Amino acid sequence: MKVWRELLILVLIFGLIWLAFTWRPLSLPDSEFRLSREREKDLAELIMDDLEDEFVFYPDSTVEKVLSPITSRLLDSLREKKYEYKFHLIDNSREVNAFATIDGHIYVFSGLLKFADNPEQVAGILAHEIGHHENGDLVDRLMKELGLSVLVAVLSGGDAVMISEISKILISTGFDRKQEREADEFAYDLMTRVQINPARLAHFFTKLKAEEKTYPDDLEIIATHPNSKNRIEGALSYQLPEGFEEKEFEIDWKELLEKEL
Ligand SMILES: [Zn+2]
Repeated sequence: MKVWRELLILVLIFGLIWLAFTWRPLSLPDSEFRLSREREKDLAELIMDDLEDEFVFYPDSTVEKVLSPITSRLLDSLREKKYEYKFHLIDNSREVNAFATIDGHIYVFSGLLKFADNPEQVAGILAHEIGHHENGDLVDRLMKELGLSVLVAVLSGGDAVMISEISKILISTGFDRKQEREADEFAYDLMTRVQINPARLAHFFTKLKAEEKTYPDDLEIIATHPNSKNRIEGALSYQLPEGFEEKEFEIDWKELLEKEL
């Protein structure tokens, strides 16, 4: 009997030693579940390389002339800025679209600029995309669809097929209605602060709705097209602060585009 007792104690001791070396608290720190900013930046650059294979881009000098007057006005008035924003202009006149990837990258199709009646409407669309970034929707979406381990594996392996899949996820629709509504609300608020009437977004969507049959319906900005009526009403009914006055861009929009695009 004594031998058995000693054996049992020995097993217990070894068991405890084993536990001491292998036991980890069940709740890992938050950072274990989040994509670090450094990784987000690296992944954004891989996505950019992938998109550069897929699309034709205008040079930075064109982005500077066409988009910067609009983007600088928006960015200067952002309350908190999570990212250093980078805007890219894709040479594609057929598609009226804009989308955001991660780490502050925003891609705009030349087709959107040509479709818009004025730079105020473009400001509204860009404010919406900035909203997705600031609200954390993009990283959220990748984490939900792929998970951290896949993203980290892609970063260490640089698997081209996977990166292309990630680009596709970000370009195609996938935000839920709540995220879309919040990005619109973010846009209304930012537009108001830079003295652009949120109704400009409604004008853009009204025009798009009238012509939507000519565009595929899986584009980011018209992703909620069954809801575009609500969206138009939302922008039109936004309560402007007292004494609000719109300040238009001093740009001859059509002439600028004709010259640059
Ligand atoms: Zn959106």
